Amino acid sequence: MLSDIQIAQQAELKPIGEIAEKLGIPGKYVIPYGHTKAKIDLKYYSEIKDRPDGKLILVTATTPTPAGEGKTTTTIGLTQALVKLGKKAMLCLREPSLGPCFGVKGGAAGGGYSQVLPMEDINLHFTGDIHAVSTAHNLLAAMLDNHLQQGNELGIDPRRITFRRVVDMNDRALRNIVIGLGGKAHGIPRESGFDISVSSEIMAILCLATDLQDLKERLGNIVVGYTWTGEKVTARDLKAHGAMAALLKDAINPNLVQTIEHVPAFVHGGPFANIAHGTNSIVATKMALKLTDYTVVEAGFAADLGAEKFMDIVCRKAGFSPSAVVLVTTVRALKMHGGVPKDELGKENLEALEKGAENLEAHIDILKKFGVPVVVALNRFTTDTDAEIQKVHEAARRHGATIALSEVWAKGGEGGIELAKAVLEALDKPCGYRPLYELELPLREKIETIAREVYGADGVDYTPAAESTLKELEANGYGNLPVCMAKTQMSISDDPAKKGRPKGYRITVREVRLSAGAGFIVPICGSIMTMPGLPKKPAAEIIDIDENGNILNLF
Ligand code: ADP
Ligand code: MG
Repeated sequence: MLSDIQIAQQAELKPIGEIAEKLGIPGKYVIPYGHTKAKIDLKYYSEIKDRPDGKLILVTATTPTPAGEGKTTTTIGLTQALVKLGKKAMLCLREPSLGPCFGVKGGAAGGGYSQVLPMEDINLHFTGDIHAVSTAHNLLAAMLDNHLQQGNELGIDPRRITFRRVVDMNDRALRNIVIGLGGKAHGIPRESGFDISVSSEIMAILCLATDLQDLKERLGNIVVGYTWTGEKVTARDLKAHGAMAALLKDAINPNLVQTIEHVPAFVHGGPFANIAHGTNSIVATKMALKLTDYTVVEAGFAADLGAEKFMDIVCRKAGFSPSAVVLVTTVRALKMHGGVPKDELGKENLEALEKGAENLEAHIDILKKFGVPVVVALNRFTTDTDAEIQKVHEAARRHGATIALSEVWAKGGEGGIELAKAVLEALDKPCGYRPLYELELPLREKIETIAREVYGADGVDYTPAAESTLKELEANGYGNLPVCMAKTQMSISDDPAKKGRPKGYRITVREVRLSAGAGFIVPICGSIMTMPGLPKKPAAEIIDIDENGNILNLF
């Protein structure tokens, strides 16, 4: 069997100008980055903004397991299938972070015959957006430390600086550092650290901004720390936001690429789905909705995280909403939720599957709360038996969801015809999208609504620190912001060990952070990783390049 990168390298790509032309984008708005990638000038949006929107389809999944689910693969394959059925469709994905590519092997540009290309570029430097985000972020950090050095006119308390630095690399040694050592000429010593670039608030802002001016405003709102008297200090106070926006002037333009079957795809923006909202940029999705009749987008992690945030944060800010949701699951993942260890997933186990199906049911229930029709996509693996596939079908139907078998990994768009037809049928059903909570509710009530309605928890406990931050935020006028929950993706609860459909538990909010620029409050449940590390045997040890410049072993 060919690996993802071998399949990708065999594909013949069309010049990106042809893909843009297919979408009807005038040449003057197409900014090529080489032959197979282009940025589409955001100015184009004002020309098409009065067109009616196409239909939006959101792809999410059951709770992740090490067995893999295949959201990205399904997003790509489903769009290819819609095109095969004669529909005008495109997809929107996040840009993969470069750091993790060198850690654990695992694709971020789809897999098999459902990939976006050129996958090597998309996975590595792509069009430089993430570098631009890092640079804008680190400019603000540098201006902050320079402010301390140059007399600290604002009276910033060096112990209460919350803004750190970023780099797009899994580098745990940088998590906690001391900066400013070396004497008087070399800065004010203080504790700080690095996060990975995609966890930067600037990435979240880039993905939520509606245009350059909105981007600049939001950058200005970033809170970097507090003064000696407890007043917040913003990027605007440091006069950094104009220069930061200047650094992001190209990054805000959506990136156009193509799938293996030459279907257009925007791959733009890549915020973390834990401390941020985890979906591609609003500008890319808005543009796609004007360009085609069907836009398929992927939300990070499972329905309790990515989809909830998409519905409650992104849709509200952007003014669009999905008309159908695709819930990706696999026999293997559900067996793991039923207690089967990873090395025994190849064996049929109907009992474990029956038990693990409660995770699928929980996610169907979550999605129903948003009033949007749900189609389960059973992503087929070669080890799945007919009896197992039958069992998942029964579970989904018992729970009132449509289900379709998807073979887009093995067969590309052809393998997604059944799924595409089911989605088209769902799109004809009445759709009454509604967010889960009203923004006017107090912060605690918003958190508790998500905990009860989405996670199935009995209630929420707060540490004293979390409680006092919530009070402070409401007193400072941030009470009307949506909440962007940060918790493990490995369980619907806040405890990664609780598989399936956890019941009879409470969640604990340990800490609350403010992302004033992005425009949300981040309640943190459990520990949260904003700078990953490399594993014992990093994928970087086998990634290579041959004498012809071909990249080897990148997935
Ligand atoms: P997600 O977006 O949910 O993280 P991806 O679509 O990126 O998942 O898939 C994760 C990995 O699993 C990729 O390397 C992909 O090639 C692989 N994969 C997905 N679907 C299948 C399948 N049906 N059979 C085998 N491998 C698959
Ligand atoms: Mg994915």
